[in-house]
Amino acid sequence: MHHDVIVLGAGLAGLTAARDLAAAGTDVLVLEARDRVGGRVEQTRTPDGRTVQLGGEVVGRGHTAYLRLAGELGLALVPSYVTEPGRITRATPEGRSAGDPPHWFGPGDAALHDKLGAEFGALAAGVDPDDPWSHPDAAALDRLSVAGWLRSRHATPAVVRLWEIGQLALAGGSYERISLLAALRKSAAVPGSGGGDYDYEDWEGLKLAAGSATLAEVLGRALGPRVRLGSPVAALDVRPGHCRVRLVTGEVLTATAVVSALPVGPLRDVAVTGVSEARLASLHRQRQATAAKFAAVYDRPFWRDAGLNALSEAEGVLGSTWPQNEGVLSALIPPERYGVLLGTPPALRTPELLAEIAGMFGDEALRPTACHLRLWGTDPWTRGYVTQWPPGEVMAVGPLHGTHEPPFYVCGSDQWVAGYMEGAVRTGRAAAEEALRRG
Ligand SMILES: Cc1cc2nc3c(=O)[nH]c(=O)nc-3n(C[C@H](O)[C@H](O)[C@H](O)COP(=O)(O)OP(=O)(O)OC[C@H]3O[C@@H](n4cnc5c(N)ncnc54)[C@H](O)[C@@H]3O)c2cc1C
Repeated sequence: MHHDVIVLGAGLAGLTAARDLAAAGTDVLVLEARDRVGGRVEQTRTPDGRTVQLGGEVVGRGHTAYLRLAGELGLALVPSYVTEPGRITRATPEGRSAGDPPHWFGPGDAALHDKLGAEFGALAAGVDPDDPWSHPDAAALDRLSVAGWLRSRHATPAVVRLWEIGQLALAGGSYERISLLAALRKSAAVPGSGGGDYDYEDWEGLKLAAGSATLAEVLGRALGPRVRLGSPVAALDVRPGHCRVRLVTGEVLTATAVVSALPVGPLRDVAVTGVSEARLASLHRQRQATAAKFAAVYDRPFWRDAGLNALSEAEGVLGSTWPQNEGVLSALIPPERYGVLLGTPPALRTPELLAEIAGMFGDEALRPTACHLRLWGTDPWTRGYVTQWPPGEVMAVGPLHGTHEPPFYVCGSDQWVAGYMEGAVRTGRAAAEEALRRG
């Protein structure tokens, strides 16, 4: 059967693109490998009705495309963990501290940290997130890692460690291996950032009241039979007016245009013909940080007893924790520790992660009512977590990043500056708009 547009992947990007295409009267079909929609957003419920997010969870006031779509769908937003009372915990092998400054800071470190945050903010203001390549020093900024830049600005090891532990908490990859230009681009992409490298209010201050994955569920329900689940795509041949999509079963479907909303890892396994070598090389070069998410469900937010907010930045296998819902704790395992987790016998993973949490918040952490561990980094249909830009990669992927080659359109969080649900929604809408504009 021939369709106007076939969308590959029913994550937030593919669903958003398909929604806009369908609303414009286009005959659209979405092909999804899994037996559910949502991709990297997924939720479950506790017996008493609390949602537990196993993937993407929070957004910020700077995520304008996502907030607009949530508004159109009538989904309410509420403050996220940022309003949880209490102090942040930092845990390293040699100690633990609550609140600022961290336990490894010495005299002068706090002032230096603030100064470098302001310098970073000023540098970011000079980067155009849509065209970082136009910066006069683009190549030099891209060659430098964020940690290398900090040292070049005379940061003490203690200050570099605070930036690094914050970055590992986000699980995007060590700042020793992240391009300065990519980090500046990410910061510049969310105007209104309060300086520094990451403003939590701008990026993470809100969440959907009904649970993050509800947005994908609502979009999936509205599209109904236009979404075909359990349909992994194996090959794609792009020709003007006649694109052929082959499923792993051998079934072939045709369309006038194709929107790829696949993450960059799984996309590399799809045999693509009819797209220029340059466009494919740029797409295939992109990479993702691998990470895992752990969620532990408790009867009550026991961390409050100790004046803590359950937010932590840690140097264990866990990189961070935060409260995602009443009594529900989220945690991330960053790329640098993902191999350690995989090497841990499966039966020991949950007890060892709980022991790390207990080391920060007390022994009640050892008695959850349920735990969920999702290994996104090795999930065959994700193979990552969030887009990653090592030194040199912004230049190597180049200005073709996120661009279309009609009738082949791309979207997905990897096609925005820094991943995130915002990236998925923003690029999904942009791809649909461009496909409609081209007729
Ligand atoms: C643990 C975790 C925590 C996160 N936390 C946050 C957060 O708090 N805030 C935030 O903004 N973002 C967060 N993110 C990132 C955010 O969830 C993602 O960037 C976003 O959901 C990606 O949407 P997407 O549509 O681009 O890709 P995906 O959601 O990955 O969708 C791609 C779809 O393509 C399908 N697919 C893959 N291969 C094939 C194939 N061959 N054929 C057919 N279908 C295929 C997949 O099954 C999937 O459904 C988090 C991600 C993870 C994993």
